[in-house]
Amino acid sequence: MTKEFTLPEVEIPRKVPIAMHNFTDFFKGFERLPAVRSIFGDETENVLSELKVEFFSSKFGYMGVSDEDGHLIVSAYYLREGEPVSKYLDVIHELVHVKQFRDGKALFDDNYEYHNRPTELEAYKLAVEEARRVGMSDRELFEYLKVDWMSEEEVRKLAKNLGIKVTPKRAQERVR
Ligand SMILES: [Zn+2]
Repeated sequence: MTKEFTLPEVEIPRKVPIAMHNFTDFFKGFERLPAVRSIFGDETENVLSELKVEFFSSKFGYMGVSDEDGHLIVSAYYLREGEPVSKYLDVIHELVHVKQFRDGKALFDDNYEYHNRPTELEAYKLAVEEARRVGMSDRELFEYLKVDWMSEEEVRKLAKNLGIKVTPKRAQERVR
């Protein structure tokens, strides 16, 4: 059904090299964390030493996992500008997706909205546990959950799904 256009003679590649790096060359110490060991168990060292990471430079986006081969995709901008605790929790979150991919789960099941998707809730659950362990309050967690692709209402639903206490909208406005 695609309409055919007469284009000037230029060349645009279909396949380009993607620069992959070893996760452990850039992200250090994760194999020692109980939270990470709870994901991969005895395989932790093996999985992390095999894990590849691709950096991209767009201002948009944070971190993700490829649903084609399970490698990590990370924004260089986010690494530079992001809050340390957010970046830390995001790595934990993404490592859960790495495990899910290895287990053959569909990472982006469109039958669910993001805030209800089981793979997301599992990833957030471990990140939330870790956040509480390092001293994050529910209010701070709620702020952490806010990302540009979710509406305030969706963030509230996600927080509720994760057992994070959310200040009622009105009360929150008064606090500020
Ligand atoms: Zn996720």
